[in-house]
Amino acid sequence: MKRWSKDALSSENLNETHEETNPQYQGLTGLRNLGNTCYMNAVIQCLCSISPLVEYFLSGKYITSLDKDNGEIATAFAYLMNEMWLGDFDCVSPEVFRLVIGEQYPTFLKKTQQDAQEFLIHVLNELHEALKKSSKRRNQGTTSTAWESRPSVTESSIITRLFEGHLSYYVMCLECQTTTYKNEIFTVLSLPIPYETECSLEECLECFFQQDMLTWNNQITCSSCGTKQDAAVKASIAKAPKTVIFHLKRFDCQGSYKKKLTTDIYYPLNNLDLSPYIYPLFRKNPKYSLFAVVNHFGDLDGGHYTAFCKHTISQNWYNFDDSRISEIAESALQTPDAYLLFYSNQSFSVPVKNQSC
Ligand SMILES: [Zn+2]
Repeated sequence: MKRWSKDALSSENLNETHEETNPQYQGLTGLRNLGNTCYMNAVIQCLCSISPLVEYFLSGKYITSLDKDNGEIATAFAYLMNEMWLGDFDCVSPEVFRLVIGEQYPTFLKKTQQDAQEFLIHVLNELHEALKKSSKRRNQGTTSTAWESRPSVTESSIITRLFEGHLSYYVMCLECQTTTYKNEIFTVLSLPIPYETECSLEECLECFFQQDMLTWNNQITCSSCGTKQDAAVKASIAKAPKTVIFHLKRFDCQGSYKKKLTTDIYYPLNNLDLSPYIYPLFRKNPKYSLFAVVNHFGDLDGGHYTAFCKHTISQNWYNFDDSRISEIAESALQTPDAYLLFYSNQSFSVPVKNQSC
């Protein structure tokens, strides 16, 4: 791939570089490693391949929602998206974004490897906090349904619109059969890995959504019996997000026992069907396509992260390894290193910088 750096920008080759400002390369920008920051770089590349998110920042729409007192992280993220999509570099440094997020979470300033999933959750939370708007919602009636416990004030942001899903847990007392529902919001679904050597993503999903028993220490206090009882619990998706992120629980840590599961997990590139896990009423767009993967190589404390992302403009897949970018065949996307999987139920269009001009 022929790219160019700012150093090569001298007055005599300005015309030449102008020709090379090829939109095909927009969004294909490497990220410098600042000392074990590959976990950060891999997550940022995946977020940078979500065009509705990128467009929200490139178009400046985020400014109207920005909480001025709490907007540093979102502003630094917007600058980074701009550099990665519209800048002139092969590779940029995420240093400013790292410093700003490091003020809230000092652990991300350390030069040690961190968990990409934890970093992702903090970034999404911080963007939501900076960009949220509150709105009142009418009560949904008084019958004993799953929706009763919905809050009357909801907070929405670009993050909730793209990533937020709702799980509904049905809990049944095995003594008196009284059933209650509990709602939970999620942005990342952490899936157990049921087999040692190989399994499919669907088997991980089956395992997550299967009925479970709450016994011994996990018993519930039944409101009807008034005592602790065994219970059956089962989760369903009450609201499926447009972008669903799966975290494959490869890191098995129990006290001092630590192990990484290297199970080969087969995940579909297209037509991942979530309808078996979604409430029948809410199965609107249950088919999902893969658009990004965070990979983790090596052991728990060290190791290395990379990302595979589908490029919105060319529709090709690229391997992002810090500052290095290379095209990758679809057939090479399936590896036992996959750690986070990003799926969407809508196809992405090319992000537009500014619609008003
Ligand atoms: Zn009971």
